[in-house]
Amino acid sequence: MTPAIFPIGLRISTAYLLLGSRAVLVDTGCPGEEQRILRALKRYNVEPERLALVLHTHGHMDHAGSTRALRERLRIPAAVHPGDAAKLRAGHSGELIPLRLSSRVLKWFLDPRFPAFEPDLQVEEGYSLQEFGIPATIVHTPGHTPGSLTVLFEDGRAIAGDLMMGGALGGLYHATEPGYHYFAEDFDELRRSIRKLLDRGAKTIFLGHGGPLDGARARERFAADITGLEERP
Ligand SMILES: [Zn+2]
Ligand SMILES: [Zn+2]
Repeated sequence: MTPAIFPIGLRISTAYLLLGSRAVLVDTGCPGEEQRILRALKRYNVEPERLALVLHTHGHMDHAGSTRALRERLRIPAAVHPGDAAKLRAGHSGELIPLRLSSRVLKWFLDPRFPAFEPDLQVEEGYSLQEFGIPATIVHTPGHTPGSLTVLFEDGRAIAGDLMMGGALGGLYHATEPGYHYFAEDFDELRRSIRKLLDRGAKTIFLGHGGPLDGARARERFAADITGLEERP
């Protein structure tokens, strides 16, 4: 059975519900969005016992904000890449480094704090979600943050968090137009990660803001920025 990917539209970001033999929730939005997520689970007839894991694409406020509240309600383990574990423990997105001038303005509107929690599981490159009922693999795609990750399915569907952004104003307009997110802690690494994901065969890329993106169009959009990048040892 091909697992289904259901987007859960939240206030400023999108979480995803993966349904296979069990269910995995990818990201939890901002603080205070747990009720919206619980309602979405109900809508898709996912009993709390079926939910096996909450996985974070990265440790930002708008992706891990409601995890503590959900974990208290549902008692499910929370997973993150080791590179972003400290953000979850601190309940703080860390410094947001703007890529563009407009992001410098946006930065003032985003409170980086969220309810802190200790991750139960750290997942790295190549980790399989099979034990949680989802035949997909973790690809480490750092740059936006050091511990940013992508969930990649064999058929080329990918959930890439904030590796890229779709459209303008956080995906409000032209959502399927590939672009960069407002923030990146390491822009070179980000571009290497985009190339890595496209080289690994990502065809439909689901994002935290806007999307989904078509892999071929993303390659066109980023081609000039991702060719000729030196591999990091
Ligand atoms: Zn982010
Ligand atoms: Zn985000």
